[in-house]
Amino acid sequence: MNYNTEEIQRIAQEVAKLVEKNICQKQSKSQEVQTMAEFELAFRETLRQIGAEALGIFLSGLQQTPESEIACACGGKLHYQRMRPALTTTVFGKVEYGRAYYAGCSCGKGSAPLDQTYGLAAGAISSGLAQLMALTGIAFSFEESEKWLKEFLLFDVSENSIRSETQKMGLLQQESEEQEIQASQNEKALQKRLRKENHIPKRLYGSIDAAKVRIEPRARKGKPAPKHEDWRDMKVGCWYQAEAVSVSRQSARQRQKAQREGTVFRTTQHQYYCDIAPVDPFGKLVWASGCQVSADLAAELVFVCDGASWIWELVTHYYPNAVQIVDWYHAEDRLKRLADTVFPSLAQRQAWLASVVEFLWQGQIEDVILACQRLSSQPEQARQALTYFSNNRHRMRYDVFRAQGYLIGSGTIESGCKQIVAQRLKRSGAQWIVEGAVLTAKARAAWLSGTWHSLCHKRARLPLAI
Ligand SMILES: [Zn+2]
Repeated sequence: MNYNTEEIQRIAQEVAKLVEKNICQKQSKSQEVQTMAEFELAFRETLRQIGAEALGIFLSGLQQTPESEIACACGGKLHYQRMRPALTTTVFGKVEYGRAYYAGCSCGKGSAPLDQTYGLAAGAISSGLAQLMALTGIAFSFEESEKWLKEFLLFDVSENSIRSETQKMGLLQQESEEQEIQASQNEKALQKRLRKENHIPKRLYGSIDAAKVRIEPRARKGKPAPKHEDWRDMKVGCWYQAEAVSVSRQSARQRQKAQREGTVFRTTQHQYYCDIAPVDPFGKLVWASGCQVSADLAAELVFVCDGASWIWELVTHYYPNAVQIVDWYHAEDRLKRLADTVFPSLAQRQAWLASVVEFLWQGQIEDVILACQRLSSQPEQARQALTYFSNNRHRMRYDVFRAQGYLIGSGTIESGCKQIVAQRLKRSGAQWIVEGAVLTAKARAAWLSGTWHSLCHKRARLPLAI
């Protein structure tokens, strides 16, 4: 919005006088010189109060001449009663406004159309404030959020309302995922999408992983709370693209990595999805979220994952033609752990690893398997490693994958799990029931995927508090 500078200056002078008057009163009491921070705070507080007052005046002015009669949702008629005041909490704090109120329908219900148009409700939180509350709620524990918001907003909002607004965002995300799941199972909708599709990625990556979330034991009716805490798997998936980082833009760490690996990748356009759900329903989300990024239409689809069998089963079921790659670091780590248990001396360990890791790097899985078979001293660990490398041999052709210029590390999904689960759900002070953990994680995943503002848009369109 661009205002006439003169108008702004005139108002600014009034505001400055107002604050000055206030500050002088305080100063004469305390005798202390005030700091710049105190001036800033005084201006913020004054502007906040002016904002609250002005917003109230503005809202009250939106409905100048009420109609004498309007249609009721039941099909009957509502009659104008009077301008009725209401109080709503906004980014400026409490705002009082007046709006036309209608009643007198045989159904007994009343209506304030202004509230419905702007998603307002007497005693409720405005959508602008709700967005900010949810934004802190996905970043900090709800208790911490309360303190952070107080610093920024200069008034109190309760921990409970922050939790509720954050989870409403998660609920909106969940609803849109449910719609996507419906659409992704409808052949006609998929065909229609095919005709419109003009952003089909040439090479798209997918990764899936899971991280543990601690669920608080809850007392059931008449029974004491269970003593043992419950850990549940938050399954997390990500769709993304990757591009090589040019030598001139590589960090010191990346340059080191480039020496060994040749190409260093930067991943972009991350789209995260997550749920605490069994494999089958989660699979539907994998497919539906994939349809949103045209994973099924991509010229090349590459999955880089850690090697858990449920993940590969899902990938094979939904994307039978995708390239499957076991994350290089997990595969290498498997060899390191095996060497640790087998060789007591560091020199032996290093010598064995140097040759066997090189086999792995060159995609000579038969040689890796052979090397493991020769470790007769620890048959059990060697046997487990053998199964792992045998089952995944086609996913470890690292020579071929590197020649194709594929990303072979699943760092993107690990960072996704960290950002969604560790950095929010495992924050100190966080206590979860399954639903709360899921909704908060979904809201956070939307933020990390860059789709937050479309959720905010939906939140602003909610007719009344949900
Ligand atoms: Zn009615």
